[in-house]
Amino acid sequence: MFFHYWYEHRSIVRNGHVVDRVTKWLVWSGFDRNKSSRKSWFKLCKEALPHEQGHLDINELYSRRLAEMSLDMLPRGEGADLKEASADLRRKVEALADRVSGEETKEHDQYDAETAHGKNLSKQREWSAAIQARLNRAGIHFRTQAQASPPTSALGLTSRRSHPLCIPCTFTKSDRVKIIVALI
Ligand SMILES: [Zn+2]
Repeated sequence: MFFHYWYEHRSIVRNGHVVDRVTKWLVWSGFDRNKSSRKSWFKLCKEALPHEQGHLDINELYSRRLAEMSLDMLPRGEGADLKEASADLRRKVEALADRVSGEETKEHDQYDAETAHGKNLSKQREWSAAIQARLNRAGIHFRTQAQASPPTSALGLTSRRSHPLCIPCTFTKSDRVKIIVALI
């Protein structure tokens, strides 16, 4: 699981001092199939679907948190010249993404510990319900496979939540689909 970000930026010079600001901000989240073998995910999907779905949903929640930051909330780079200011911006954006990613990792660990990797069924149900409530609050709705469009055509949620197989399973079957979810 991952999220990636991309931004455009513009510098302004003020009294010989350069300020670099983000003018466009995109965040993608998804599942990197190159990092997991098809076989192991297939097994996971059959045996631990609700648990693995929880990991994907947690990734989605944190990606969304980052994606929804307004341009004003994003860091500004400063420096004596253009190069310095954009390097400062890059560092600060990286630090922001690292912070969110660190919080996410902590939650994945807590989730695994409390549910015993999905083996504790009552805890798993509790977590799944709580995660679902957070997805609802965040307005994250997943499309069905029939509605999903190729990632090149759209930015927006594209997932296979209501498909009987979990995302990684269907995902690995398709060489066409490289991005599960793209967010603005
Ligand atoms: Zn787990």
